Amino acid sequence: MDATLAGIVGGGLGLVIGAVAVAASRLSERKLTTIPPSAPPPLPSGVSDVLAVLKSIAIVLDSSDAVVNNSASAVSYGLVRHGELVHTELRQLARQVRRDGEIREVELELSRGFGTTTNTLMTARVAPLGAPHILILAEDHTHARRVEEVRRDFVANVSHELKTPVGGIALLAEAVLDARDDPEAVSRFAARIQVESTRLTRLVKEIVDLSRLQVADTLHEPELVQIPQVVAEAVDRVRVAAEARQITLEAVADERASVFGDTELLATAVANLVSNAVNYSEQGTRVAVAARRVGDTIEITVSDQGQGIPATEQSRIFERFYRVDAARSRATGGTGLGLAIVKHVCATHGGDVSVWSEEGHGSTFTMRLPAASDRAAADSDRHTVGRAQGETPG
Ligand code: ADP
Repeated sequence: MDATLAGIVGGGLGLVIGAVAVAASRLSERKLTTIPPSAPPPLPSGVSDVLAVLKSIAIVLDSSDAVVNNSASAVSYGLVRHGELVHTELRQLARQVRRDGEIREVELELSRGFGTTTNTLMTARVAPLGAPHILILAEDHTHARRVEEVRRDFVANVSHELKTPVGGIALLAEAVLDARDDPEAVSRFAARIQVESTRLTRLVKEIVDLSRLQVADTLHEPELVQIPQVVAEAVDRVRVAAEARQITLEAVADERASVFGDTELLATAVANLVSNAVNYSEQGTRVAVAARRVGDTIEITVSDQGQGIPATEQSRIFERFYRVDAARSRATGGTGLGLAIVKHVCATHGGDVSVWSEEGHGSTFTMRLPAASDRAAADSDRHTVGRAQGETPG
């Protein structure tokens, strides 16, 4: 969570604590007149109502540290057990707050029990609530922390990946200068500069694509996308590379296959799979692309007769910058981002991607996307035609 957001959340919690405290003190003042002095003052009913609305984990302690009110999440996070606050640090903090009346904030790391390796990260605020009570409000920041770690990793990876081609270009430029009297060497180095700069351009484009996809969980304005068109476009983009290696590209697509989404993104995803199929196959083999409707799903499969992927690597190949064979990926101009992009495109379309592969026997990647229903597709067609006719002048 960044500083501004933390400030807003902190401020919001402060307001809630203040409001709850005022309500509690007013109500308790009123009730004190009717309660015998020895009985512990009850928690004013308004407080429970306010706490029930909060998203935070909430716990209210009485003067003897017994829990008099808590949210269900306080139990599921293991902070409250059998009506007792079981976290020692929080209990101590509650006592300090009771002594001096000052609000305190603390970061906690909770172990979530057996079998889990990740701990829960929380911030907790402890505040006085009326005279005898103490309010603890806690927020789970584990997800935010994880997102931040992933972002930091990504930035580190990107800088590392960019350094290689940039460094390569600098060295090659030096070599060109040194070889200025040898035209053959100059053209050899210049050709390599071209390869490295093409790789750099592709890398930058894919980093930008992936960053955009990561920000947008869903598509803003999905349109009706004809899958045969997507398949044709994807195959077209890879045709030259396939011909250069005498790889036969075959494509079949069910005419009725359509989804709601983004044509360009889907064509990029399918092209990434076809491009990999070509790059990781031997000369003279066959790559097949097929799209069909299976119930409410559109399945797009890309199969090759290539080297295959070891079973132990199959779960990792969709990670950013993960390559089974870095040298081969480099030799084919790979960026290590192709499959991460496919995964994100499928996710933003409400679908997924999976792989079947056997070493030495080839691979099949399958994208599964929710199909546009025939009625929705027809409605969308009518709408588009209507709009196009409306725009015709005269
Ligand atoms: P790259 O740019 O390196 O191809 P990808 O994200 O597209 O990156 O793929 C990740 C890794 O998965 C590749 O480096 C390669 O090792 C493996 N891979 C992907 N597709 C195939 C395939 N069709 N056959 C064999 N290995 C593949």
